[in-house]
Amino acid sequence: MKILLLHSDFIEWEPKKKAIPSAEEIEKKPVRVEDALVVFSAVEKSDQANLDDVVKKTAKEIISVRNQVNAKNVVVYPYAHLSSDLSSPDSALYVLKGVEKALIEAKVPVKRAPFGWYKAFDIKCKGHPLSELSRDILPEGVERAKAKTKETKEGGFDYKQLLRDISKTRLDKDNLKDNDHRILGQRMDLFSFSEVAPGMVFWHDKGLTIYNELISFWREQHRRAGYQEISTPQIMDKKLWQISGHWEKYQNNFITDYEGRSFAVKPMNCPGGMMVYKNRPKSYKDLPLRVGELGIVHRQELSGVLTGLFRVICFTQDDAHIFCTEDQLEGEIGRIMDLVDMFYKKFGLTYHVELSTRPEKRIGDDRIWDKAEAKLEETLKHKKMAYKINKGDGAFYGPKIDYHIKDSQGRTWQCATIQLDFAMPERFDLTYKGEDNEDHRPVMLHRVIYGAIERFIGILLEHLDGNLPVWLSPVQVRVLSFTDRNNKAASEIAKSLEEAKIRVECDLKSNTLEYKVREAEIQRIPYIIVIGDKEEQAKTIALRTRGEKKVKFGIKLEDFITNIRKEIETRA
Ligand code: ZN
Repeated sequence: MKILLLHSDFIEWEPKKKAIPSAEEIEKKPVRVEDALVVFSAVEKSDQANLDDVVKKTAKEIISVRNQVNAKNVVVYPYAHLSSDLSSPDSALYVLKGVEKALIEAKVPVKRAPFGWYKAFDIKCKGHPLSELSRDILPEGVERAKAKTKETKEGGFDYKQLLRDISKTRLDKDNLKDNDHRILGQRMDLFSFSEVAPGMVFWHDKGLTIYNELISFWREQHRRAGYQEISTPQIMDKKLWQISGHWEKYQNNFITDYEGRSFAVKPMNCPGGMMVYKNRPKSYKDLPLRVGELGIVHRQELSGVLTGLFRVICFTQDDAHIFCTEDQLEGEIGRIMDLVDMFYKKFGLTYHVELSTRPEKRIGDDRIWDKAEAKLEETLKHKKMAYKINKGDGAFYGPKIDYHIKDSQGRTWQCATIQLDFAMPERFDLTYKGEDNEDHRPVMLHRVIYGAIERFIGILLEHLDGNLPVWLSPVQVRVLSFTDRNNKAASEIAKSLEEAKIRVECDLKSNTLEYKVREAEIQRIPYIIVIGDKEEQAKTIALRTRGEKKVKFGIKLEDFITNIRKEIETRA
C-alpha cells in the first residue's frame, strides 16, 4: 500500500462523478476538514496477500505520524494515482474502511473521502519539515523486488511541484476533458507510454515533429541572443556530483556503476557545463559567456504520480548557463527576461513572476545569499516587474525568479526560471583573468524557458486544445479525394506541397468525404484540401481552414503554397 501523508491547514473535496460502477453511494456535497493529517492512499495487488495486516500497519503508521506532527484530524483519502498496480476495488474498500475503524477505536477523529469517485480537491499543506511524508507498506511475508521507503524530510522544491501537479491533474480528470493532452496525444498519434519505462516518453513521428520544431525555434532565437550550444555526457562520475552537491543534497538521482566507479545519470546539466568552462582558460573578454544545452535529464519520482507529459522521469531541459562578472549581472538577467517574454508571447501565454528565496537545505553562506537575493530583487524592481516573494523555495545553490504561465483554462504552471548562483563557481573553482591580469571568480546564472520540453508540449496541447499553429503542426495539410476517380489528382497536389516543404498527408481511402473531413478535424489538421471533378477540371483546390465553417472554392494551388509558406516561415 502506498500512502502520502500531508499535514495541512485544510483539505476540501467534492465528489463529482463515479469513476467505477462499484463506487460507494454517498451524498454529493463538498466536505472541508481543518488541521488534518491527510493520508492519500492506494491499495495495491500485493496487499491482497494479507489485508488485515496492511490495515493494522497502516493505522499504526498514521497514528504515529499524527502524534509527531500534532495534527487534530485524520483524513483517509483514496488516491489511485499513487500506484500503477492497484488491488481490486473490494480489497481497497476493505482496507480503507478497516483503517477508518481502527482509527476510531484508537479515538482519533477521522473522516474518509469516498472511494471510487472523481473528486475535485483543494489542500493547503503546512510546509514544516515533517508535513510531507510518503510510505510504502507491505503485508507480512510479501517482499517487493526493490522495496523502497522514500521519505522526504524537508518540503523541498520538487516535492511541492509534485503536489501542485497532483491537484491539477486530478481536477483535469474530474471532467475527463477532451482536451486532456493524453487523449489528444493518442488521437493525434503523438506519443505513448509503457510500463517498461515509467515516466519516459515514446515519441511517435508526429510528436517528435512538434518537439523538433520547438527546438529549432529555440536554437534560432538563442543564436540570435548570443548563446553558444554544447552537449555533455549522460552519466558522469560521482566525484563530479560530490563537488556540485547533487550527491548529498539531491535525492532523486539514478545511480549506476562502471569499472568499479559510481556514476550518476545526470539530474541536471550544470556540472557538465562547468567542465566545458574549465577546459580552457578564460579572460574578462570572454564574458558574458552564454552557453546553452538541450540536455536530457533523469530524476526519480514515485511511479504512481506520473501523469502523461506533465510529470516525467526523463525529460529535455532547455538549459543555459551564463558566466559573467557581478557588474554584468543585471544586464544579463534583463536580457533573459526579455527572451522569456518573447517566447511566451509567441505561444499566447501570459505569466506572473515569483522571487524564491533561500531554502532550509542549501549550500553557501548567508552573506552570499543576502547578496544574491538582493541582486534579483533589484533587477525586478528596475525592470518594473510585479512579483511575489516565495519564501524558502529557492534552489539549494541560489535564489531564483520563477515564471508561472497561465493557460487558456486559467491554470498556472511554473516553467521558466532564472537562478543566481555564487556557490557553484566557487565549488568548481571557476576563474577568469581580469583586466588587472589577476584571477577572478565569475558569477553564474542558470535558466530555462520551456522548462521541460515534454511538459511544455503537454501544456501547449491543452492550452490550444490541440490546435497548434501551422509551424508546429505535425501535419500541416491533408489532401482528400472526393471519389476514387480523383485519387491521382489528389496525390499530385500532395506531391507539389511536399516539394514546397509542407508536411502533408493524403487520404485516398474510399470513405465518405464527411467521414474523411471529420477524421482530419479530430486530428486538428490546420488545412484540408478537397479534390473533386470540378477542381480537377479547373485545376484549383477546395480549401477548409481549421476553425472556419466556410469552404473556399476555386483557390489556385500556387497561391495557397505562397500563403502557407509565409505562415510557416514567420511562425505565425
Ligand atoms: Zn544549471
